[in-house]
Amino acid sequence: MSLCLFCRIVAGDIPAAILHRDDDVVAFRDIQPQAPIHVLVVPTRHVVSLAEAKPEDQALLGRLLLVARDIASRDGLDANGYRVVTNCGADGGQSVAHLHVHVLGGRPMAWPPG
Ligand code: 5GP
Ligand code: ZN
Repeated sequence: MSLCLFCRIVAGDIPAAILHRDDDVVAFRDIQPQAPIHVLVVPTRHVVSLAEAKPEDQALLGRLLLVARDIASRDGLDANGYRVVTNCGADGGQSVAHLHVHVLGGRPMAWPPG
């Protein structure tokens, strides 16, 4: 059994509020939401972070963004907009070492981020 938290969520070993699942990508609500809408979009295959992605992951990376866009749309964020972000490594604030895209919306986002 994988020790990776998001691999375990993908496998169904740890429960999550799943919004989307296909062969390549799973999306689920963040357990500690930082905005009224906070969804994580992850590849089903274990990729540590954007820094570890390979040229052959190009389609997968695009798929993550398109699923993020579709989730945002489904959650009613098109009118006011939203933020899509991936934290990479220590300075990026990444706390789970399985590539994921955050979809945040439902309130205005500040820039620059903290
Ligand atoms: P990171 O800090 O790596 O960019 O994002 C990891 C995210 O995973 C955080 O926003 C955190 O709240 C979320 N998270 C951590 N553990 C769990 C969990 O068990 N279930 C869900 N749904 N989200 C989690
Ligand atoms: Zn993993």
